[in-house]
Amino acid sequence: MIYIGNHVSVSDGYLEMGRHAAELGGDTFAFFPRNPRGGKSKAVSPEDVRALGEFTAERRFGPLVVHGAYTMNVCAAREEVRANSLEMLRDDLIRLQALPGNLYNFHPGSHVGQGRETGIRQIAEALDAVIRAAEAVSGGPLGNRILLETMAGKGSEIGGCFEDLREILDLTVELGGTERRDQLGVCLDTCHVWDGGYDIRGDLDGVLREFHRVIGLEALRAIHLNDSKNPCGSRKDRHEKLGLGEIGPEALRAVVRHPLLQGLPFILETPNEDEGYRAEIAQVRTWMK
Ligand code: FE
Ligand code: FE
Ligand code: ZN
Repeated sequence: MIYIGNHVSVSDGYLEMGRHAAELGGDTFAFFPRNPRGGKSKAVSPEDVRALGEFTAERRFGPLVVHGAYTMNVCAAREEVRANSLEMLRDDLIRLQALPGNLYNFHPGSHVGQGRETGIRQIAEALDAVIRAAEAVSGGPLGNRILLETMAGKGSEIGGCFEDLREILDLTVELGGTERRDQLGVCLDTCHVWDGGYDIRGDLDGVLREFHRVIGLEALRAIHLNDSKNPCGSRKDRHEKLGLGEIGPEALRAVVRHPLLQGLPFILETPNEDEGYRAEIAQVRTWMK
């Protein structure tokens, strides 16, 4: 089995997110700890966070997949944007120390003309710095695994191929030691890898073999389950509802049922409102059977 859920809003608090996700049929969910386009996150009451932890434990939810703000770019060319992004990442991780055992996913970033190598180094340095900060502030080990998301590779995006992520992981281990291996991982977005040129419709086994060869499947900790509006290799990153895009229902069903992906949390990031998500979660559950 897999865990399935969608993005929910943090606006009514933490416990309410769990209730909302469960009401839609989910047993995991994703949320932005702050406005997805950046900005401040609201103060959170520790009781509310604890209540969500109890709720998800009781309901046997899978790990939650928290999403870092889209505007974060820890390898931006502009120093000011980089510093700001680092601060957001640091603040998110410190905040989430109160909700351990989950996953924190973020977009590696765009190097904006600095070059791939510079970008990769800046991302690894950022990761090392924020992990150290979260541990220093909370006085304990990092409580949540940080995931790098596979990207479509548009513009100067880093993470459009598995090699980019491998290099970031390796460099972070070089900086922080082998314990970094257990603190980091990867979230595979089906729309992004497809747009990035990995044919999960024609050869899912081959793509997973390639992932294992380059990164190692033990690093794969979450799936973003999306269809794509565009053909394989288009590098566009436009999500589509499940089964209505170029990846299609058969291939997405095969992803949900793949033996190597069982036990992972799957998050829908499809263009839907609540009722659409409810229907897609039900659809995924029939695919699981
Ligand atoms: Fe994402
Ligand atoms: Fe995604
Ligand atoms: Zn996307």
